[in-house]
Amino acid sequence: MAGQEVDGAIDRQSEQAAMRRGFILILSSPSGAGKTSLTKALKADKDAGLEVSVSVTTRPKRSNEIAGQDYDFIAVEDFQRLREHDDLLEWAEVHGNFYGTPLRPVEKHLAAGTDMIFDIDYQGTRQVRDKLGRDVVTVFILPPSMRELRSRLERRAQDSKETIERRLENARVEIERWGEYDYVIVNEDLDRSLAGMRAILTAERLRRDRQTGLPDFVDGLLAENAVG
Ligand code: GDP
Ligand code: ADP
Ligand code: 5GP
Repeated sequence: MAGQEVDGAIDRQSEQAAMRRGFILILSSPSGAGKTSLTKALKADKDAGLEVSVSVTTRPKRSNEIAGQDYDFIAVEDFQRLREHDDLLEWAEVHGNFYGTPLRPVEKHLAAGTDMIFDIDYQGTRQVRDKLGRDVVTVFILPPSMRELRSRLERRAQDSKETIERRLENARVEIERWGEYDYVIVNEDLDRSLAGMRAILTAERLRRDRQTGLPDFVDGLLAENAVG
């Protein structure tokens, strides 16, 4: 009986120690470097405990994409309406289309202490960092070479030749933003890159200032009498 009470107390303290504020993990890269592949792998891994932000976009749906899951595909007028009503946490024009992050799901998940992953460009990253500061962790994904970037875009076979050329032209401007990010991963081998992403998540979750339950947990520890 006494043993059970002690176990219960330990459980409560561990739960208390595990209390955290949620954070946003932002992935950016030039098109084709592998953000979507990494995001999908992390989403499929239930242990990663991440919610993926589903952006709205005015670009046409690719044949392999699912509306409402990869993006909410909307008309330009609807995008403008969301912007005017302050329903977007951030938005940007990328490769000639509009993209934005709906605000409400972000508020909901962060309040519940759930971490989120965003696949957004560098312009959006700046806006989110300005608004949410320390609750944002940023990762830039680089391709191993420009030749490999081109061949990935061609192998993906989801965009027209013109679209691929436009994305490759924009790649240089995007790559130049690498210095604004907290972490950088050169995505050569997908499994190694994924291991890197998991390491970042683990380390960020252990940051002292994110563990809001620690002060009470430590008070409890110090109140225990371990002697005798
Ligand atoms: P990808 O680069 O091949 O993944 O192509 P996408 O068409 O999926 O994305 C185009 C660009 O828009 C990328 O740079 C994304 O990071 C960016 N993007 C996607 N969603 C958002 C968003 O919600 N907000 C912002 N600011 N950018 C986004
Ligand atoms: P992004 O979302 O950054 O545009 P994707 O995740 O769509 O990039 O990746 C572009 C293409 O490259 C896809 O066909 C994907 O399967 C492939 N790819 C991604 N990472 C790797 C990797 N490490 N090695 C080989 N191919 C990759
Ligand atoms: P794609 O059209 O290939 O899906 O995405 C092109 C680019 O748009 C990628 O760099 C992607 O990260 C970015 N992007 C997608 N959604 C958003 C968004 O909601 N906001 C911003 N700023 N960029 C986005």
